[in-house]
Amino acid sequence: MKALRIPFAGATLNRREVERRDASFVQQLITSDMARLLVVSDLALHRLKSDGDTSVDVPLRVALHTCRDIADIYFLGTETNSVPYFATHRSNVSAIPDEEFSDIDLRQQYATLADATLARLAIGRSLVTWHNTARFCGSCGQSARVVEFGAARKCTSCGTSNYPRVNPVALTLVLDGCGSCLLAQHVQRPKFFTCVAGFISQGETLEEAARREVEEETGLKVGNVSYVFSQPWPFPGQLMLGCFATVVDRNAPVKVDTHELLAAKWFTRDEVIGALARSRDSPLRVPDSIALANRLLSHWIDAITDGKQPKL
Ligand SMILES: [Zn+2]
Repeated sequence: MKALRIPFAGATLNRREVERRDASFVQQLITSDMARLLVVSDLALHRLKSDGDTSVDVPLRVALHTCRDIADIYFLGTETNSVPYFATHRSNVSAIPDEEFSDIDLRQQYATLADATLARLAIGRSLVTWHNTARFCGSCGQSARVVEFGAARKCTSCGTSNYPRVNPVALTLVLDGCGSCLLAQHVQRPKFFTCVAGFISQGETLEEAARREVEEETGLKVGNVSYVFSQPWPFPGQLMLGCFATVVDRNAPVKVDTHELLAAKWFTRDEVIGALARSRDSPLRVPDSIALANRLLSHWIDAITDGKQPKL
């Protein structure tokens, strides 16, 4: 079976969890000529036009003196070539005018970026987005200051610590064991059919969440659920957990939750192959290869092409 590339996975960044507790260690890196800064906004990452088209970040020494607040420059870690990486929000370097930046849209340009670069950009994007929403303490409402150069925030009043959060999502490909899979057309993303997805609730396992979401959205009961692989998803900070699930009764009627879905249908292996190949004749559209749903479909096709149904 082919190894599948999973966008945003494969980070080679060393987050320096121990060394970053020593402020002098990070301060030394901030002033290093090698240090790079990821500049993040809600929609894009920004690079300096003067720094060339190959850069996906900005020399920190250029941006540092324009920063509104140096505390809002977060340390991501060091790469295997020892280059230290930091990230901040676009608004923190507002002294640099828009015309000096060009934008990188991760969703559009992911395929042109190396795995480790893409993973690093995803970490920076998720971290900056989290800090922007965690400026006040969830316990008492007072301001929360950055600690360990972005590893957490601590309330200035009650001392509660908050850490960058990740929200787990169960992404489930329902199979019938006979060469067909069930795909859903979501109300919010009607252009394609994809896996059933939903946030894992408190007190749930991945398997329980997958079974609940499939039944809620399609009316179908699934039995065995098996984890396949996962993907960090930086829009803004999910962890997608891909799994296969077997339907209990292939002939049971599909009853969609119209609040969530427009439709849910069974598709054959050949229909999915056509959609993955972007065949012009294919009536089925599936998500691009940036999405774990696409990788899960490819993994299923590879498994049955190799002559075996995936293990469940
Ligand atoms: Zn507090």
